[in-house]
Amino acid sequence: MPLRLSDEVQHLKGVGPQRAALFAERGIHSVEDLLNYLPFRYEDRVRFSVIREIQPGGVYTIRAHVASGGTLRYSRGRDPIYHLLIQDATGAMHCKFFHAAYLEGRLKPGQELVLHGKVEIDRYRPGRIEMVNPQIELLRGEEADSTEVGRIVPIYEALGAIGSRLIRRAMYQALTNLDSQLADPLPQELLARLGYPTRREALIHTHFPPQGENLDALNAFRSPAQQRLIFEEFFFYQLSLALGRRASRKATAIPFRVREDGIREALKRILPFKPTAAQKRVLAEIAADLEKAVPMNRLLQGDVGSGKTIVALEAAVIAIENGCQAALMAPTEILAVQHFLAARRILARGGYRVELLISGLKPAEKIAARERIRTGEAQFVIGTHALIEEDVQFARLAFVAIDEQHRFGVLQRKRLMDKAASHGHAPHVLVMTATPIPRTLSLTLYGDLDVSVLGELPPGRTPIETRLTSEPHLGGVWEFLRREVARGRQGYVVYPVIEESKQELKAAIVEYERLSKDVFPRLKLGLLHGRLSSDDKESVMQRFRAGEVQILVATTVVEVGVDVPNATVMVIEHAERFGLAQLHQLRGRIGRGGEKSHCILVAPQRMTDEARQRLETMAHTSDGFEIAEIDLQLRGPGEFFGTRQHGELGFHVANPLRDRELLELARREAFTLAEDAGESATLRALLGALPAHWQRRYHLAKVG
Ligand code: ADP
Ligand code: MG
Repeated sequence: MPLRLSDEVQHLKGVGPQRAALFAERGIHSVEDLLNYLPFRYEDRVRFSVIREIQPGGVYTIRAHVASGGTLRYSRGRDPIYHLLIQDATGAMHCKFFHAAYLEGRLKPGQELVLHGKVEIDRYRPGRIEMVNPQIELLRGEEADSTEVGRIVPIYEALGAIGSRLIRRAMYQALTNLDSQLADPLPQELLARLGYPTRREALIHTHFPPQGENLDALNAFRSPAQQRLIFEEFFFYQLSLALGRRASRKATAIPFRVREDGIREALKRILPFKPTAAQKRVLAEIAADLEKAVPMNRLLQGDVGSGKTIVALEAAVIAIENGCQAALMAPTEILAVQHFLAARRILARGGYRVELLISGLKPAEKIAARERIRTGEAQFVIGTHALIEEDVQFARLAFVAIDEQHRFGVLQRKRLMDKAASHGHAPHVLVMTATPIPRTLSLTLYGDLDVSVLGELPPGRTPIETRLTSEPHLGGVWEFLRREVARGRQGYVVYPVIEESKQELKAAIVEYERLSKDVFPRLKLGLLHGRLSSDDKESVMQRFRAGEVQILVATTVVEVGVDVPNATVMVIEHAERFGLAQLHQLRGRIGRGGEKSHCILVAPQRMTDEARQRLETMAHTSDGFEIAEIDLQLRGPGEFFGTRQHGELGFHVANPLRDRELLELARREAFTLAEDAGESATLRALLGALPAHWQRRYHLAKVG
C-alpha cells in the first residue's frame, strides 16, 4: 500500500511504538510532519576527503576506521576530553571530543566511521593536526547502504534520543513508499512558470538530493527542491493574509467625516505642540482610511519616542467628533494609566470624556466605568486587557488603537475588534509598535496591514550617550547619577527581573533598599515592579512624574511606553541579561526632553561574545532599525519577535530572514491570485490546502 502523508509515522519500518512516542514528543505524528523536518545541512559522501590532503582550518568529511590501538581514551582534567585515533588508506589523524560519553564502549578498532568537522593544529603539539569535536556517524557493514554513503547525505538535528542516522532511515522509508500520485497543492501553471518541481519530487530531492546537486546550494537552502518547499510555505501563509484582507475589505466600517472645518479645528484645539512633518503625513494617511466605508487596518511603526501617541489621540478625536466611541488598549497598567492621564489632559481642551478601564480599579469604580462605556457617556476608553473582557460592552465603538501591539496576541486584537463588530460595523483599527522591523519581515508578520512609518523624532532632542561599564565601576556610576539629580534631573535604575520570579524580584527589592540606605541616603527613591498593586504602582509613577521621586528603581515594567521627559539617566544593571530589543526599549525611556541623556549599561567583565556584541551595538547606535537587523542576525527571527509570535509564525521549512526574496515572490503571487481569482475553482482548491493554523489565524473558514 502506498504511504499517504496523513499516515502515522509508527507504520514506517524501523519506527515502532516507542520511537513513534519519541517523535510525537517533538510534534511529529504523521508522515507529513516527518517530511517537513528538513536536514539542517548536507555532507558529500561521494567523494570523501582523505587524511593526507587535509589542511588545518578547513572543514572536511572523512570516511575512516578506528585505528588499531586507537580506541576512545579519556583524559581527566577540569573538562574531560576524549581522544580517538582514526585511519584511512592515506594516513592517520587524531580526533578530540569534549562531549563524547555517548561514544564510550562503541568504538572498537576497525569500526568504520564518517566524521565531519573542522581540522586544527594541536595546540599542545604543534605540527600535529586534529579534528575537534567532529560529528560522527558509525557505519555498520550491512547498513552502509545507499542512505549512508555514496551520495550527498542529509544531516538532521537530533530529536532528543533519535539521532540523525535514524531520522534519515525513517525518512528514506517514508519517501521510497510515498504515494506516487501525491497531490500537489500549488497550481500547475504557477509551478511551470517558476520552474519548480512537483511536491513529491521536491520532498524527495530535499531529503535525498540527486547526484550532481550542488553542495553549496544545498547548504544555503537554495536547491530548486528546497526553494519550492520554502516558497510553498510562504505562499500559503501569504494567501491566508491576502484572503483575510479581502474578507475584511468586504466588511463595512463607519465612514468618518474628516475634511470639515469643525473637525480640523477640533484637532488643532487639542494639539499641545507643533506636529512633526512625519506626524502630519501619517495623520493624513490615517484620515484617508477613516473616510472610507471599509475598515482601516493600519500599522503605525515608529521608533521609541517618535510621538505615536498623539497621532492615536487625533484619530480618536475624529471618531468622537463623528459621534462614535474610540478605544486605546495598552499592554501594561502603568502605560494605560499614563495614556489616560495624557489623554485626559490633552482632550480636556475639547471637552471630551475619557474613561480608564484596568483590572486594578475598585469593584464599584469598575462597574461605574463599564456602565458609562455601555451608555456611550464615555467617549474615549483607555485600558489594558480589561477592555476585552466579556462583560465590557460599547455603545458605538468605531475606532480602536492598540499600543505596543507586539505585546498582544493576534486573538486579543481580534477580540477588541469584535467589541465594535457587535454593532454591525467593523472598527477602524490602528496598531502601533516601536519594534522596528525590517520591511520584508513586517510583510511576514503584518502582511494584512497597511503600514505608516514615523521616521523622524520630534525636534529638540539631544542624542543619548550610551556607555558600557563593569561592576567594579559602579561607584562612579552612582556618583554620576547623584550629580545629575543635583542638577534637577531624574533617573532610572533597572534590574533584570524578567519573569518576575520571587527570587529575582528579591534582588531588585534588596538593591532598592541598599541604594536607599547606603548609596543615596539623602535622595528620594521609588521602587516599581510588577507585583505591586495597581494603586502602589500608580502612586510611585505619579510621584516620579511629579519629580518627588528622583531615582526610580525598577524592573522591566518600565520597558514599554513610560514617558517622563525629565528623566535623563538610565542605569541598567546586568545589562548582559537583556535582549537588544529590550535594551532599546529601556533606553527609549530617556532622551525625551531637551536635556542631554545618558544610558549606562553595567555588565560583568566576563560575558559571552554574543552578550558583548549586543552591548557594543547599543553603545554605537541608537537607530532602532539597525539594532533590529543586528538582533535578527544574532538571534534569528523567532527570538526577535518573542515567543508569542514565534508560535504563531508556524513555519517549518521557511526562514523569513534567510529566505527574504522567496517571501517577496510568494507575496506577489499570492496577492495577485487572491485578487484575480474571484471565487474560482483554483482558489477553492487552494483554500482546501491551506494549513489549518493559518486558516484559524485569519478566520478564513467563511471565505471562498
Ligand atoms: P512613542 O512613539 O514612543 O510612543 P510618545 O508618543 O510617548 O512616543 O512621545 C514621546 C514624547 O514626545 C512625549 O513626551 C510627547 O509628548 C513628545 N512629542 C510627541 N510629538 C511631539 C512633537 N511634535 N513636538 C514635541 N514633542 C512631541
Ligand atoms: Mg508609546
